[in-house]
Amino acid sequence: MAKSPVTTDDLRQRLAAAQAGLQAQGWGAMLVSPGPDLTYLTGYDAIPLERLTCLVLRDGGDPFLVVPELEVAAAEASPVGALELDLLPWSETEDPFAKSAAMIGPIETVAVDNHMWAEKTLRFQAAIPDVHLHLAGLVISSLRMRKSPDEIEALADAGAAIDQVHARVAEWLRPGRTEREVAADIGRAIIEAGHAQVDFIIVGSGPNGASPHHEVSDRVIESGDPVVVDIGGTMPSGYCSDSTRMYSVGTPSSQFLDYYAVLKRAQRSAVESVRPGIPCEDIDAIARDIITEAGYGDMFMHRTGHGIGLETHEEPYIVSGNSLPLEAGFAFSIEPGIYQAGSHGARIEDIVVCGPEGPLLMNDRPRDLQVIS
Ligand code: ZN
Ligand code: ZN
Repeated sequence: MAKSPVTTDDLRQRLAAAQAGLQAQGWGAMLVSPGPDLTYLTGYDAIPLERLTCLVLRDGGDPFLVVPELEVAAAEASPVGALELDLLPWSETEDPFAKSAAMIGPIETVAVDNHMWAEKTLRFQAAIPDVHLHLAGLVISSLRMRKSPDEIEALADAGAAIDQVHARVAEWLRPGRTEREVAADIGRAIIEAGHAQVDFIIVGSGPNGASPHHEVSDRVIESGDPVVVDIGGTMPSGYCSDSTRMYSVGTPSSQFLDYYAVLKRAQRSAVESVRPGIPCEDIDAIARDIITEAGYGDMFMHRTGHGIGLETHEEPYIVSGNSLPLEAGFAFSIEPGIYQAGSHGARIEDIVVCGPEGPLLMNDRPRDLQVIS
């Protein structure tokens, strides 16, 4: 991964913390296949393939990386090389699950990363007799939630890059253009702003804005349409951006302006409430109560936010039922919405990091409705 904000020492600390977590849980081993958890722990951004690549942490032994022989060079060229992690290569005719199980020895419990393919999970389960399965996310997600200063800087860079794109959206939104045409311009700008890839583009005009996960369509944008623009990408650092701003092509209805004012107040109040110790669900309640008191509660049908880092959606989730208290270094979105089915919808989204005293905003584009005349 280019321009990683992570040093070899950081990776060593993360592996040691994961090892300590494994021991605290009493697991015999922890298995981490390619994906954000593996990238987080080793810096190796391996492509998920049918052949088994897997980091093995175990009680009472050094970690090792199971890797197909033909991938050894790629693994060693990654930060795994500098980490001097032991490799367990396997050839095309070997069974990598049996080989890993033999290295691990008899254990009663094993934790697998939350995104391990079912195929690999079941083959590990068959290779380790009578083993009980757990989810490694219990340990790894709690590490990934707590962002280091370098990770926060990477998120700030991602936020600044997506802000640059929002600063240009008014150039492309015009009556007579389709959502898809506007999205194509936005996609080019996401890359020009420094992202390595485009992750998603939502251009929800008029009634399409009332569907929170509408992406794009061939609908022609009309004068008077409010437009939801929710966009994000992954930076070369591996960290993600995600920001929503509201636009109006021509003058919107007074009905829309009424609830947009409520939404803005709800979003700002939730952001301002961010501080260490406040439970995630309280942030959700602060936004939701304002929207409900104004009579729009049933038009806000999703959680207030999600964690963000190496993935666009990760822990912690800002949702009723999540009593986890915020800690300095948690990074997440605050994105309440109000959706009037059949007519239009609105959402405002910022990425916020919980700082020692209060919120640190990763996005700073104006949150007012941007009317394009
Ligand atoms: Zn978003
Ligand atoms: Zn989001």
